[in-house]
Amino acid sequence: MLTQNPLTLSDAQRIAESIVGPVRWDGAQGHCQCPGEASHTTPTAPTDCKAVVEPIATAGGTLAPGVYCFHGSCRAACDDASHALRSALGKRQPGQPGSRTWHPRVTPAPKPQFNLAKLEHIARKLDGIDAGWLAARSAKTPWNRTPASFLHELYRPGERVVVFDVFESQGQALWTCTAPPFDARALDGFRTGKARGVWYLAQPVNGEFADTGTFNKDVTPHLSRRSFRTVTSWRYMVLESDKANPDHWLAALVQMPLPISAIYTSGGKSIHALVRVDAGSKADWDFQAAKVKPPLVMLGADEKAISAVRLTRLPCCERVEKAQIQTLLYLNGTPDDTPICELPPIASGWHGDWQPADQDGGAL
Ligand SMILES: [Zn+2]
Repeated sequence: MLTQNPLTLSDAQRIAESIVGPVRWDGAQGHCQCPGEASHTTPTAPTDCKAVVEPIATAGGTLAPGVYCFHGSCRAACDDASHALRSALGKRQPGQPGSRTWHPRVTPAPKPQFNLAKLEHIARKLDGIDAGWLAARSAKTPWNRTPASFLHELYRPGERVVVFDVFESQGQALWTCTAPPFDARALDGFRTGKARGVWYLAQPVNGEFADTGTFNKDVTPHLSRRSFRTVTSWRYMVLESDKANPDHWLAALVQMPLPISAIYTSGGKSIHALVRVDAGSKADWDFQAAKVKPPLVMLGADEKAISAVRLTRLPCCERVEKAQIQTLLYLNGTPDDTPICELPPIASGWHGDWQPADQDGGAL
């Protein structure tokens, strides 16, 4: 039989290290020194480059074995290293000497699946999670926010956020966060009259258009200000669910030990949560996302939506096609891992005599 000498994960890791040097492994992938680091034109973070030795499922498809770097200037060196790695791994395939085609020897982990029973079980632990309950635990009062005062809670002075009312576009506005006092009405032009509603790119960007220089050479590069090239901070992850009952999804979200910065409706049936990640690079973001994805997907999170460069609904804006407002339910710019359900109520809800959580922005 040809299977007498299978390539184990540790064999594959050793082969990779013979090409790129030491790797900080996490399963079949790990951060390493970029083989083209000398050509980087911007500072190099230790998480910028990673080696992959088995096909890895990502939100954008399958990441083949290879060497991937956040920087673009080192692409030739990374391509060479990727080729060497695939070739070396291929040569170890029994029966396929010298094959350049990758055939996985290690069965990939099963794809995470939505588990309705599990979600219902968790949701049942906590009843009555609604807008009032969330508002009572929200560090910033949700009901008097504007699109701009919402964003102001999430970004730092000088940071820029792209705002869209055409999903497929490069954005209709570039909002810049300024130090207080700020103009809470800055994006009020988006609050009404937008047929499909309004989105923002969750990661702040530099506002410039850049060659997307995608890792996949088959994709024609194009100029974009909503690609990973222009992101200035890998701060957030968006969670949304199309499958879960919204009440159950909300009940599960508030029990998760995740630093949730904001929760809002899509103006449709979906509820989005903005989770603070603070990754050091896109590779680091992908790394962290891969770890949290299985349990989140099991509870109903849309796997495809867990991607590093993601548009999400901008609260306090109308979605005309649904005759609904994209409604802010919860806002906390400095969250920690404490599940929201363990936070003490700080206000009594939407219309009660709420305590002054924080009234910055000053616009109604
Ligand atoms: Zn590089």
